[in-house]
Amino acid sequence: MIRIKTPGEIDAMRESGRILARVMREVSDAIVPGQSTPIELDAMAEELIRGAGAIPSFKGYRGFPASACISVNDAVIHGIPDDRTLQVGDIIGLDFGVILDGWHADSAWTFPVGEIPAGTKRLLSVAKESLMQGIAKAKPGLRVGDISAAVQKYVERNGCSVVRDLVGHGIGRDLHEEPSVPNFGRAGKGPVLREGMTICIEPMVNQGTWKVRTLPDDWTIVTKDGKLSAHFEHTVAVMADGPKILTTE
Ligand code: MG
Ligand code: MG
Repeated sequence: MIRIKTPGEIDAMRESGRILARVMREVSDAIVPGQSTPIELDAMAEELIRGAGAIPSFKGYRGFPASACISVNDAVIHGIPDDRTLQVGDIIGLDFGVILDGWHADSAWTFPVGEIPAGTKRLLSVAKESLMQGIAKAKPGLRVGDISAAVQKYVERNGCSVVRDLVGHGIGRDLHEEPSVPNFGRAGKGPVLREGMTICIEPMVNQGTWKVRTLPDDWTIVTKDGKLSAHFEHTVAVMADGPKILTTE
């Protein structure tokens, strides 16, 4: 069942999203090549979230051990923060959720570590723009497949691929609600989007094959060919006057 939110509930999720966006900015600003480690950045995210009076959505979720999923280079998503030192040329995906007054927000962004090669910059810009193309379709009367197709078309037209094994989702009182929001599919298919729906659109975009595998830690998903992957996500409300991104400052 898809849970429709009232305007007041969307305002509440907006407050979670505002905290999330600020923490995302502060943690990403703290990335120093040759110095920062994922485990430190995770600790910083948790401290900032709790300092804002909120709760990290991911900590303990299905046993996840950290507050942020931190996925470096060929890691697609669900990376467990480790103590490697981030190096110039790496890309780092930060993905976390925030609960405030029982309402979740969820967002992810992939950041360059120092100066990155042109091909890597391109991957990041294709992935980020594919998210925007998907968000533009989050309008009442359109369907989930319109979002999926917009993301997939943009990514593939630009020579990259979209991961199939993991998808976006509804969000609200629960971190994961219905409907599923795939990053691939056909326009005009899937559930109808209605005013008051809140969804996470989150393309995972690979430089090479869309195929992935899971590391022995049972969490980290990496690309099958070892090429780079980027992940961008916003929590979005479907509103009468168009899509409203909730995870910005
Ligand atoms: Mg999500
Ligand atoms: Mg996320």
